[in-house]
Amino acid sequence: MARLTSGERSIGGRVAIITGAASGMGRATAHLFADEGAKVAVVDLGAERVEAVVDEITGAGGTAQGWVLDVSEQAGVLRVVAEIRDALGPIDILVNNAGIALPAPFEPVGEVYLDAWNRTLDVDLTAHVLLIQACLADLQRNGDGRVVNIASTEGLGATAANSPYVAAKHGVIGLTRGLAVELGRTGVTFNCICPGPIRTGMTAAISDDAKAKFARRRVPLRRYGEPEEVAHMTLSLVLPAASFTNGVVVPVDGGMTAQNT
Ligand code: NAD
Repeated sequence: MARLTSGERSIGGRVAIITGAASGMGRATAHLFADEGAKVAVVDLGAERVEAVVDEITGAGGTAQGWVLDVSEQAGVLRVVAEIRDALGPIDILVNNAGIALPAPFEPVGEVYLDAWNRTLDVDLTAHVLLIQACLADLQRNGDGRVVNIASTEGLGATAANSPYVAAKHGVIGLTRGLAVELGRTGVTFNCICPGPIRTGMTAAISDDAKAKFARRRVPLRRYGEPEEVAHMTLSLVLPAASFTNGVVVPVDGGMTAQNT
């Protein structure tokens, strides 16, 4: 193989959809991709939150437009992906990042657990399928599309009272591997990141003290991660030069899953 060119190490001009981009890791990824010259579709719930991130990016000289979407709604996904294609061009990169974590102790009877199960599976797993379906023809057109799914270390192990999230994130890993194997011949790559504890909206309610205690006990780097540290790995996986990386599951967790507790 010839030496890599700067073009192969760049996402400049590529069209990237990032779901859940109004907060946390999605927002950090949207910023980083725009800084690297991508045309970014900022997709999330809440018009003001979406517009705020679009303004931040465009204010810094980047290219971004916003779409308000509940990623679990199929008709909305199809409509928004068509609008993004019209506005920015065919999709080159899809980052399935939007997610929810609902506390869900298991219940032998009752609807609370089942409601949490259904909503979590809809948003954290089925929505990935809907987005991939809507983007696939675009991703395949040049034989170099990129999909990164954001799973979790809860896709590799489990915390109690969290089984819908654990199941969904294990499912994200399975979906990633299944499509990497099935669709690899088209040149599109499917990879997955498993963040450990990261400072985002999802963990904002955990006190600094509790975060520090957890990190001392469980994380070899002795701290929570920052959203930008995950965004950097996502960028690596979507570069044109990442063309032989397919079906991998990458923990970004400060060494948490490497450590025997
Ligand atoms: P966050 O809450 O800061 O961001 C998640 C974003 O997803 C929010 O802006 C939210 O509005 C959006 N979202 C939720 N439901 C949606 C829906 N139905 N449609 C569209 N958007 C929706 O949290 P985060 O930590 O940045 O989460 C990003 C991803 O990382 C999630 O998939 C989460 O499960 C995963 N994750 C987070 C951690 C962590 O410690 N923070 C660890 C492992 C994995």
